[in-house]
Order: sequence, then C-alpha cells, then structure tokens
Amino acid sequence: MKKIKILDPLTANQIAAGEVVERPVSVVKELIENAIDAGSTRVKITVWEGGMKRIQVSDNGCGISPGDLNIAILRHATSKIETVQDLNCLHTLGFRGEALPSIAAVSKLAITSRLQNSSVGYMIQVKDGHSGEISEIGTPVGTEVTVDQLFYNTPARKKFLKTPVTELGQISDLVGRMALSRPDISFALMDEKKVILKSPGNSDLAQAIYAVYGGEIARNMKEISHEGFPRISGFVTLPQSTRSSRHYYNFFINGRWVKSQELASSLEEAYHTRIPDKRFPVAVIHLVLDPELFDVNVHPAKLEIKFKDISPIKEALLRSVQSVFAVPSNSIPQIYAP
Ligand code: ADP
Ligand code: MG
Repeated sequence: MKKIKILDPLTANQIAAGEVVERPVSVVKELIENAIDAGSTRVKITVWEGGMKRIQVSDNGCGISPGDLNIAILRHATSKIETVQDLNCLHTLGFRGEALPSIAAVSKLAITSRLQNSSVGYMIQVKDGHSGEISEIGTPVGTEVTVDQLFYNTPARKKFLKTPVTELGQISDLVGRMALSRPDISFALMDEKKVILKSPGNSDLAQAIYAVYGGEIARNMKEISHEGFPRISGFVTLPQSTRSSRHYYNFFINGRWVKSQELASSLEEAYHTRIPDKRFPVAVIHLVLDPELFDVNVHPAKLEIKFKDISPIKEALLRSVQSVFAVPSNSIPQIYAP
C-alpha cells in the first residue's frame, strides 16, 4: 500500500463533480436553482452545442457581493443553511454548497454579478481549480454564470455526452419543468440565438402550461384543487387526451420538481379504467407541504424525496383528480389559449 494522502482540492472537486454534474443538463439545473434561490423573476438560459461548448445562465436576482465571489466557488460554501436543523425548514432549492465548486472543477467558469443596490458589478474566472483576480465590470443587476467547455479536463466524462440535439432536448425538458414549477418566474431558453421556450412569468400556471406544452395539450386540461392538508393545485388532462409515456407527469412539492412513484400511482389510480393500457395522462400538480413532512436530503441531485407519511397525501391526490371526472367536463375550469 502507498502512503495515505489527502486529495488536492481540484481532484477532490472533480470526484465530487461526478455526483452533481453528469452532463450539461445537470449544470443548467444547478444554475437555474441558484437563480431561483436568489429571488429572480427572470432567468435566461443560453446554450451552445447542447451546452457542451457553452452554457450561460443570467438572472435578475439579489447578486453576489464581490467579497463572496471567491467563497461561492469553494466546496461546502453556502449562504442557505448553517446547521443540519435548518434542513427541517428549508425554503431554498440548494443547500449543499457543492454546485459551483463542482462545475468549476470540470469546466472554465466565469461569474459576473452585481448587487441590487450597487452601481458596478464584479467578475471572477476559474480554470483548472484556480481563480483569477476579481475585476470590476459593467453588468446589469443580478448574476450571470458562464460555463465553457464542460469536461475539457475530464475526457472520460466527456465521452459519455451524446449529440448536441440530445443534450439540448434534455435541457429543454428541464427548463419546461422549471417553468411549470414556478409560473411566477419568466424563463427563456435559447439555443444560441434561437428561442426554444419562453414562459410569461405572470403567476398563471395555465399560461405556463401553454408555453411549455402548446395549445393541443393545454386545451385538454382541467383544473384540480384540494384545500386543507395537503394543499393541491394544478391541471390534468381529460381521459381522451393521453400520451404514450409517463414523461408528462410533473409533481412539484413547494415548487421543487420531484419524482415520486407513489404520487404517480395515485394519479394512475384516479384514471384507472378510464384510459387504455399503456396510455398516460399529462399532469402538472403542485403540492404544498410543511418541510418537516418530507426529506429532500436523499441524493445530491435531489429529485427523489422521502415522505414521513405518504398515505393522506396519496388519498387527497386521488380524490382531487377523481373529482375532475365526477362532473360534466364542460363545467370545470379549463385552460383557454392566451
Ligand atoms: P448552494 O446553492 O447549495 O448554496 P452553490 O455552490 O450552488 O451552493 O452556490 C454557492 C453560493 O453562491 C450560494 O449559497 C449563493 O450564496 C451563491 N450564489 C450562487 N449562484 C447565485 C446566483 N445566481 N445569485 C446569487 N447568489 C448565488
Ligand atoms: Mg446551488
């Protein structure tokens, strides 16, 4: 055996990056989550070659102070929690302080940021784990993060990337879900100069659905709601308008997109016998739950969550979706083309 050594920070961050940054879409997800946590009302995402060449996310959020710019890129550096107890009342999407250092370890990263009440902005660039001097720069209020040449220094990871079209497809899918998760935020996704998706950000979920899925799906959706515990709101398609996969299931808990077999099975139970085998509804469902009732600290990608007690939640979901079928379909609020 060789002597035991502590890994240098770049190597440690590159290894940690394996958990957080698998492909361009994972970078986009982390950067959008940071923009949302910063209180942004507008988030613009531009990608080049499916994000493999460059990803740029700009927001109009609170910004990062010049003194914090080189702390933000350190591992376990976060402004969102201080103790593990804070996870019980988590109101942010991020909390691990891992995204920026991980992205910085496997790309060429630049962050430009201007605080709300500041007249100038500042920029930091990181390459090969080394950050350059912080320089003053003219920039709008908010933050712009640019990620160039993802995996340029980790060729083994780069090999697993697919074509720009495939990577862009995953990014577009993610931005769509983000737009559905936060109808109060305007999201724009650009493939270089081409607009791929743009949501209005006027807090109207129906209009966000229209922007993401288009008129054909939107017109066939009915509103669901459940007051009390848990609060449920959203839209589901009528049984005559189904898809060939579960890809169009969107569950959001307190605005966080989650994957949940259990919620999916309640949804399907509501449609049971109403739709043919191997056909699936479209669903955009928001649940509001006390953060104490579930745990998001399961995996760095944070898509899976653990519920403390799922049964009342499943029951309420089942009832609220079933209520759509219980009344004549023309008497339920429906999405009209904006
Ligand atoms: P986390 O989101 O888990 O805190 P990150 O590595 O993603 O960790 O970000 C580190 C810190 O940098 C955040 O806690 C936040 O203070 C700051 N930050 C990152 N992105 C932004 C942004 N777009 N606007 C404002 N602050 C940001
Ligand atoms: Mg983050």
